[in-house]
Amino acid sequence: MLGGKGANLAEMTRIKLPVPPFFTVTTEACNAYQPTGKFPEGQWDQMMEALKAIEKASGKKFGDATNPLLVSCRSGAKFSMPGMMDTVLNIGLNDETAKGMVALTKNERFVYDSYRRLIQMFGSVVLGLPDEAFEDVLDEMKKEKGAKVDTDLDAAALKELVEKFKAVTKAHKKEFPQDVLEQLRLATEAVFKSWNGKRAVDYRRATNIPDDLGTAVNIVTMVFGNMGNDSGTGVAFTRNPATGERKLYGDYLLNAQGEDVVAGIRNTEKIENLGKDLKPAYDQFLTICDTLEKHYKNMQDMEFTIERGRLWMLQTRDGKRTAAAAIKIAYDMVNEGLITKEEAVLRITTDNVDSMLHPQFDQEDKKVAKKEGRFYASGVNASPGSAVGQVYFDADLTEKMSKEEKQDTIMVRPFTKPDDVHGMLAAKGILTSEGGATSHAAVVARQFGVPCVVGASAIKIDLDKRQMVVDGKVVKEGEWISVDGTTGEVFLGKIKSFSPSLEEQKELLTILNWADEICARPDVRAKLGVTGPKRGLQVWANADYPKDARRARSYGAVGIGLCRTEHMFFEPERLPIVQRMILAPTSEERTAALNELLPSQRSDFEGLFRAMVDNEKDKNGYPVIIRLIDPPLHEFLPAAEELQDKIITQRIANLAGYTLGKGDTKEIAAAEKMLHAVESLHESNPMMGLRGVRLSIAMPEIVEMQVRAIFEAAANVALEGYKPKPEVMIPLTGHVNELKWIQPRLERIAKAVMEEKKVNFSYKFGTMIEIPRAAVTANEIAGLAEFFSFGTNDLTQMTFGYSRDDAERNFLITYVEQGILPKNPFQTLDRDGVGRLMRLAVEDGRKARPELEVGICGEHGGDPNSIEFCHMIGNNYVSCSPFRVPVARLAAAHAAL
Ligand code: ADP
Ligand code: MG
Ligand code: MG
Repeated sequence: MLGGKGANLAEMTRIKLPVPPFFTVTTEACNAYQPTGKFPEGQWDQMMEALKAIEKASGKKFGDATNPLLVSCRSGAKFSMPGMMDTVLNIGLNDETAKGMVALTKNERFVYDSYRRLIQMFGSVVLGLPDEAFEDVLDEMKKEKGAKVDTDLDAAALKELVEKFKAVTKAHKKEFPQDVLEQLRLATEAVFKSWNGKRAVDYRRATNIPDDLGTAVNIVTMVFGNMGNDSGTGVAFTRNPATGERKLYGDYLLNAQGEDVVAGIRNTEKIENLGKDLKPAYDQFLTICDTLEKHYKNMQDMEFTIERGRLWMLQTRDGKRTAAAAIKIAYDMVNEGLITKEEAVLRITTDNVDSMLHPQFDQEDKKVAKKEGRFYASGVNASPGSAVGQVYFDADLTEKMSKEEKQDTIMVRPFTKPDDVHGMLAAKGILTSEGGATSHAAVVARQFGVPCVVGASAIKIDLDKRQMVVDGKVVKEGEWISVDGTTGEVFLGKIKSFSPSLEEQKELLTILNWADEICARPDVRAKLGVTGPKRGLQVWANADYPKDARRARSYGAVGIGLCRTEHMFFEPERLPIVQRMILAPTSEERTAALNELLPSQRSDFEGLFRAMVDNEKDKNGYPVIIRLIDPPLHEFLPAAEELQDKIITQRIANLAGYTLGKGDTKEIAAAEKMLHAVESLHESNPMMGLRGVRLSIAMPEIVEMQVRAIFEAAANVALEGYKPKPEVMIPLTGHVNELKWIQPRLERIAKAVMEEKKVNFSYKFGTMIEIPRAAVTANEIAGLAEFFSFGTNDLTQMTFGYSRDDAERNFLITYVEQGILPKNPFQTLDRDGVGRLMRLAVEDGRKARPELEVGICGEHGGDPNSIEFCHMIGNNYVSCSPFRVPVARLAAAHAAL
């Protein structure tokens, strides 16, 4: 109800940190205001009462000409939305109180500086005038007085500015109210309204913050950082938000107020230097940082102001951070004893893990670029990662080129504002010439994981000419640059990048191991009350080749949930043999072709078994599920049109008599034979046709060869000292009789091979559950199948009756946009329909066979939301692409916790 800012101000007050007296109007009031446009009953009276209390605490009086109280009116929702909503400072100044304050402070410059700021902020936030209207007048004044920065303007100039600003509001047919209560009322209302401003709404969409939370309004006694060089204001993080290093990180400005630091108007100082300028306040600040970290057990992002040497805390919140920093801080805080391993695991998001495996620039290529003179500029490394793209100088164009033209873009601006966020989200990278590590661009980029360099001050941006220049080197809109958010460097042209290895990331590896430990705990699974394994969800990988299996192992997979054998058939030197096999008129000829394929399949499988072990010494194998041939045979043959073309061309050549010869006639005959086969294999719905187990029953020779290859491979590696765990998966089962027909034949081969080779190892035969009928009759199917693997791509396709190859293109996107479906069911598992079938299959299957192993190998195995569901229904594992394995490990632990 107090919003983040209000709650934390209250908390800081409670633990006796120096916070100026304040009160908070709750989010409930904001929500009540929205439909009516009126303050709810009693709000204003309560505000007046609370105002009296802060008058008492501060010893000043609001609107009093001799000893005036000034306040700020600050927005603050439950989730922080940096810079998205409005704040007005110095409320309570008017012509009278300004005079009173001058008498009191003997500092005319300070008072009129505050006053002109009030009119400016009030003008833009409350009266809705354009910022530029005031900025232009200010710039003119600076020029006239020969002032470089705002602080060069003297009292007289600022006093003049106040009058000019009032004239600006009048010119726009608006009035700056002299009545201080009117100022307070209108400012509060403006903050309420800013909750539904376009900026704030866009931001909420992008971050999934609900619209009905509302914002609180904090009325806070003003403290002044602009009273001279013994005053100042700053922003700091208790740890480095880019790297996670345990060292204070931030900026400050002397003789400045509020937004000056964040806006990047003047060049800021590094927080370390504050010790030289204002030692006692700095020392006190260090102690407060420590207190706050211990209190919140998290890295804090703070705002403070020093008024004539006295420190005031104006805000604290959990700091936004990069993925790298999130991981390092979580790891460090466990070691410092601040948080538990579970908390650390919960603090890392799957997006964090994902971005740690994202590309970074190749150091060598960077050196080459430097030698070639392509180094362009450097700035603050605000958000890490590498970005290569075409330059655009405004948010709208960046968004347009990214979305409509599908370009990789870099958004370049002098600095960014909240209404630039749509461009920043669309860009591959962000570059600004002004601002520091806590500027708007930096904060937003870090949050969304967009590589970003800020404050590259050598760059002169010319928005009219649509170009930027450094030392005569011109980059025009649309040209390519490379931005290194990790180092702060900018290069002309493109630099190569690579994906970093997980092995080198000690902190992340450790946290993922904690995640695995959590998943393995019996108490965690016991909470669910599902039947089946006590041990929680494991992460396996889909891997077709030994190299994929090795990558999957290095990313922490403890099994292969799907090896698609047909990929091995598509290799160029094998495809002709496969085609010969398909065209074979007799079973003998088919077997002959298959025997040629057997050695290569066997050696592929040997590679998989060798890669999937716990370690090289013990050679204990993890399960490797190999799926027997699944697609319809026509996929291995050329398209009919292609063959027809070939036949016609050759015939014409023959008729023309150019290349008459035996070869050509033979080729025509071969092509005709192939065409005949293609035509006879044609089906109207191939995905529902002769494939999977149906094909195996029609042509058992193929799967017999495959099973022989699997068991010979397992036997061979077993003889080398490995302990392989092959699991044979029969796809597309719909009726238990299909298994009854095929499985015993295959098991006979398995046993025969083990006898021939005189070795023994454990193995399983199981099936995919991807046809609704199989799910519904799971208890019969589990009578034969020793494991189930949900093929959720097909299961989704068949349950919805949507063709997964065409649906997205034709109607699925519309369905999601129109809210007919909440999500694309091919991306996120449909729990109510497909998921219900899965739950049923697990329950019924385990009734027939309590130790039934259950997993998922569809696309959904790498999707955090679907992983959570798999945990809830008692899966033993999820299997996903090797690259998603680290993400899935974390998601599995999140589901468990
Ligand atoms: P935001 O949520 O956009 O950061 P804030 O409400 O925190 O907005 O205020 C904007 C700036 O004004 C901050 O730098 C803050 O420290 C400063 N500020 C707000 N209230 C006061 C006050 N009472 N005295 C001095 N500075 C203030
Ligand atoms: Mg703030
Ligand atoms: Mg399938």
